[in-house]
Amino acid sequence: GDFAEELETVVIGSGPGGYVAAIRAAQLGQSVTLIERGNIGGVCLNVGCIPSKALIHAGEEYQSSLNASSTGIQNKETTIDFKKTQAWKNKKVVQPLTKGVEQLLKKNNVSIIKGEAYFVNSQTLHVMFDEEKGQTYKFEKAIIATGSRPIELKSFKFGERIIDSTGALSLTEIPKKMIVIGGGYIGTELAGAYAKLGTEVTILEGMDQILMGFEKDMVKLVEQNFKRKNVTVVTNAMAKSAEQNEQQVTVTYEADGAEKQLEADYVLVSVGRRPNTDDIGLDIAGIETDGKGFIQVDEQGRTNKKNIFAIGDIVPGLALAHKASYEAKVAAEAISGSKGAAVDYLAMPAVCFTDPELATVGFTEKEAKEKGFEVKTSKFPLAGNGRALSLNKAEGFIRLVTEKESQALLGAQVAGVNASDLIAELGLAVENGLTAEDIALTIHSHPSLGESIMDAAELALGQPIHI
Ligand code: FAD
Repeated sequence: GDFAEELETVVIGSGPGGYVAAIRAAQLGQSVTLIERGNIGGVCLNVGCIPSKALIHAGEEYQSSLNASSTGIQNKETTIDFKKTQAWKNKKVVQPLTKGVEQLLKKNNVSIIKGEAYFVNSQTLHVMFDEEKGQTYKFEKAIIATGSRPIELKSFKFGERIIDSTGALSLTEIPKKMIVIGGGYIGTELAGAYAKLGTEVTILEGMDQILMGFEKDMVKLVEQNFKRKNVTVVTNAMAKSAEQNEQQVTVTYEADGAEKQLEADYVLVSVGRRPNTDDIGLDIAGIETDGKGFIQVDEQGRTNKKNIFAIGDIVPGLALAHKASYEAKVAAEAISGSKGAAVDYLAMPAVCFTDPELATVGFTEKEAKEKGFEVKTSKFPLAGNGRALSLNKAEGFIRLVTEKESQALLGAQVAGVNASDLIAELGLAVENGLTAEDIALTIHSHPSLGESIMDAAELALGQPIHI
């Protein structure tokens, strides 16, 4: 007799989708059980957003110590102990966060089951605790948040020297040379991190531009810095095969109609991610996916099974942590009985932590025009911002896309230092339908990078003080 335990609301996966959904559903009165097969915190905290930012920061610290000569400061004996860098990343950055999430789950009375879950039907799950032991659970409602994993290319099987982003984040040595296949945001961020740590990097990109999600004038700034800092970008390049021995790997690729070869210590393959939906019993539970394995959901995150929701990287849209957490809150509301909760992605930012950082929210000029808006575009250079100059980081700009008639902010792009933080004010403005005048009349502290947003708004109004 294998009697199934009965659960009210189960959440599968503890990434920024799952843990946020679990906490919010518990706050809304649900009895919540979270099931996680790996580490609490998912990709984002363990092998994604957070550790990548830590390595990027370490690279920046190293570079500023080497190259700050324009401020008159130079440390001629800068060294890196990369094992210490990695230990810092793991113990002082990742661990406090994953431990913290575990505590937050406990504080909110979320029960945690460590194991791998799959559906037996639309009201029953089986969880394997290890290879042999498992248990069956009945549930009323479920939120699936199983996330995604790197895509493996047939002719580039992951191993010792052909690595995915997880492998790249856990290297114990700084490579002399690295080839990055795929110039999306993960590839470019990791290329930048290692280049700053001293690695000679080549990015092979299949399209005619890296970072396809961002506009050309933003990407150009990143490319210029790559050129200055040990990174070669080869566009329209088709990576074909790899041969490896103990010391290195040789990649054959095609570019400019010719076959070429490159040697490196490591090849990082970052050509996209695939949803973890193939072996969790979706078919058996009758949950519909599209041709690429993404789960079909409505604006509350509800699947075709009324009691089952899906959020994060396993549903269509950009694979970003804040998207997962946003969808988590909406699904938690809906599963707790709210009829009104619904997603609206208009003010969802996208950020790339390259040098300089790139960020966008709402519409680009092109998108706004395609939607039929009459737009005004106002671009304020950070070279006109005192704070940026005093930080010795005056490269980049703020761009506002406003509707001509109403002056409402339809979207904005930031390229420059701390773009990842600056985009927040612009997101608030887009979300709340604020106008260029609202922004211009908001007193911004001086000197601050944020002032450049006020300057861009004054430019949009035709009354710029600083340009
Ligand atoms: P995940 O974080 O993938 O979590 C899913 C969890 O489910 C995992 O812990 C997994 O073990 C568990 N799981 C899967 N199947 C089962 C099962 N059957 N049973 C039990 N548990 C299961 N996004 C940003 O917004 N900003 C960034 O700067 C950023 N940087 C990134 C850098 C890198 C190198 C990478 C790889 C990703 C980055 N991302 C970033 C993307 C971000 O990590 C993801 O979008 C985010 O983690 C998705 O959250 P999720 O909750 O959907 O899934």
